[in-house]
Amino acid sequence: MLKDFFTKPKKKKYATIPSEAAKHDVPEGIMSKCPNCRKILYSKELQKNLKVCIHCGYHHQMNAYERVESFIDGGTFKELDRNLQSKNPLNFPDYLEKIKKDQQKTNMTEAVLTGSGKVNNHEVIITIMDSTFRMGSMGSVVGEKITRAIEEADKRKVPFIIFTASGGARMQEAILSLMQMAKTSAALKRFSDNGGLTIVVMTHPTTGGVSASFASLGDYNFAEPGALIGFAGRRIIEQTVREELPEDFQTAEFLLKHGQLDAVINRLELKDRITTVLEIHEQVGELPW
Ligand SMILES: [Zn+2]
Repeated sequence: MLKDFFTKPKKKKYATIPSEAAKHDVPEGIMSKCPNCRKILYSKELQKNLKVCIHCGYHHQMNAYERVESFIDGGTFKELDRNLQSKNPLNFPDYLEKIKKDQQKTNMTEAVLTGSGKVNNHEVIITIMDSTFRMGSMGSVVGEKITRAIEEADKRKVPFIIFTASGGARMQEAILSLMQMAKTSAALKRFSDNGGLTIVVMTHPTTGGVSASFASLGDYNFAEPGALIGFAGRRIIEQTVREELPEDFQTAEFLLKHGQLDAVINRLELKDRITTVLEIHEQVGELPW
C-alpha cells in the first residue's frame, strides 16, 4: 500500500511558479488571470477547484481559512491560541502598526493558524501558515503557537499536520525569531519520541528558517506542485558557489528528485492521500496509543 502511495504516477506536468512580477494583471473579482498559462479564470470556478488552474494545474496561493475549508471536515475546526499576539521586544519602528494592518487584512492574529479538526473523520491537530501575513515570517508568536500545537497533539495523542508557507525568520524580532527554529524542532523531537506522527505539507513559498527547521522534520514531508522550497535565495547561492544553478532549482519537483521530499501531491488529491497515510498508521498500529 505504501509503495502504491509513493509511486502513484503524476497526471500532469507543472511549470515552476513564476516570479512576483508575473502576478495577476486582471483585477481581483469575478475573473482573474492565471500567472502561469495567462488564461482567464472565473473566480468561482477557481475557488471550486481549490484554486488549482483548470487549464494548466498551477496552484494559486491559498490563505489559511481557505485551506481549513479545503482540508478539514466541515464544522470540525476549532482554533487554538487566537489570543497570542506579537509585542515589539526590540522596539522595531512601525512593527506593531504593520502587524495590525495584516490582522485587519487577513482576519488572523498572526501568520499561523492553529487548531484541532477532523480529516475524513480522523482527529488531528492542524497548523497552517499564511504567507499573506508578514510574508508568513516566523517571530516569537508563530514559533510559540506551533510549539503549543505540537504539544496539544502530544497531549491528545493525535497526528500533527502542518502546512508551511514562509519567507523565513521575522527580522523585526531578530534572534528571538531564530530561537523559534530550535524551540519548534525540540517540540517535534519530544512528540516523535512519544510516538507522535507528523505530516508536513510545504506550500509556496517555504524558505529560510522555516525550511531549515520544522518544515523539514516531518515523518512525511510532502509539497504542493511548483512550490519554492529552500533556505537561501538562488542569487546568494550562485554568488557563493560561483556556479549557475539549474532552472528548476529549489522547486518541489527538484527536491523530490534529490530525495528531500516523500511526494509532491496535487492539492485536489491532498486530503485523500493524507487520509491514506493516517489510515496506514492506524492499521499497522505504529502509534503507541
Ligand atoms: Zn493556468
